[in-house]
Amino acid sequence: MLLNIEKQMKAQLSDDILDALKLCSQTADEHNFKIYLIGGIVRDLILKRKSVDIDVTVEGDAVKFCHLLAQKDYCKILQVQNELKTAKALFDGDVEIDFASTRQEFYPHRGQLPVVVKIGCSLEEDVYRRDFTINSLAMSLNKKNYGEVIDYVGGLKDLSNKKLRVLHDNSFNEDPSRILRALKFAARFNFHRDDHTKELQAKYINTQMHDDISWTRIKSELKQCFSLNSAKIYDMFLVNENYKLVYGQKPEIKGLEIKTLIDKYNPYYVWLVYLGTVLTDDKIIEQFCFTRSEKKIFTDIEYLMNNHLSMMNSNYDIYKFFVKRTTESILVYYLLTQRKEALKYLENLSLIRVELNGDEIKAMGIENGREIGEILDELLKKKLNGTIVKKGDEIEFVKNKIK
Ligand code: ATP
Repeated sequence: MLLNIEKQMKAQLSDDILDALKLCSQTADEHNFKIYLIGGIVRDLILKRKSVDIDVTVEGDAVKFCHLLAQKDYCKILQVQNELKTAKALFDGDVEIDFASTRQEFYPHRGQLPVVVKIGCSLEEDVYRRDFTINSLAMSLNKKNYGEVIDYVGGLKDLSNKKLRVLHDNSFNEDPSRILRALKFAARFNFHRDDHTKELQAKYINTQMHDDISWTRIKSELKQCFSLNSAKIYDMFLVNENYKLVYGQKPEIKGLEIKTLIDKYNPYYVWLVYLGTVLTDDKIIEQFCFTRSEKKIFTDIEYLMNNHLSMMNSNYDIYKFFVKRTTESILVYYLLTQRKEALKYLENLSLIRVELNGDEIKAMGIENGREIGEILDELLKKKLNGTIVKKGDEIEFVKNKIK
């Protein structure tokens, strides 16, 4: 029997979204377009979960369809991509909808981005470029079968069995970032990969040379996975040997340990603390085209791992070793080495400051820049070992020096 999810739509989507979709529906019927909700939103409606993006696919030219909506003042077009014939539009109530033309893709080089071979193909042809069966469901928005789910690949059965299944055996070769997408969905929905999908994944990870893959996609999926700050995702990432995708080493670390540190020390780049524990290959780090501040985390990790002393005797030694390093790198260093000095630095020493500044010392009568630097350093040593605490004591110390 055909499944119709109009009721779920009414229960889960806001009135503004429902109104916008009705306008799309009317326009499609008037102009003979077949249009569908597609992918994540259909999956989430059936799972009764909140969905973020509203994706509509148009059998034909989505840009043309969007212009028809705009001509009727139903929406404002925010963005058009003419090559792929996709568009983003804004409806009343701040509702944004992404419109895509049905398309068929082909991967001329495994792992690289696909090329589009046909725009405006049938829905069935469009569906086969997708990642998992549960993400390949469509729901008709045309009046005659509004709300009806179209399932060409057994996605409904997999949804009810909580299974993640690829659409064909070449799926991971085409796009290995799907391995990480599986991880994300498995953790999010508590789903499992079906046995064949598991085998294909293991085969890809263990036998393919994955140098020439799209690192942009891999990076984006890693970022999404690890930004969730989920201990479970990290544990699965290690157990499923996903770290091999980035030529990583398997560390003896549990996700919960990382999560506990992140919750305590609040680093800005949460995902890079997780990734930093496995990503050591310089070539891959280069491929990721990190921003300058992201890259610093990796150079800091390298510095800390290559320069640490077997003994750090004083607070001053510890301070000097960590002071210019990012919190993320210090956490990774701790996770990899279990050196307690790293936490001592983050917890206590990093908060210690000399309160006097160079100008104040100059005003007290010391002109020479190098001497000022030496005094500031001495003050820092004393503050770190606790022999000086207050600013008054700092001033006393400088006065004594001058005497
Ligand atoms: P989320 O809830 O995380 O946004 P989503 O399923 O909506 O999940 P998107 O990344 O927004 O995921 O992608 C929308 C749809 O595009 C997916 O449901 C899937 O059908 C398809 N898709 C996305 N990435 C890929 C990929 N790498 N390979 C094949 N199909 C993909």
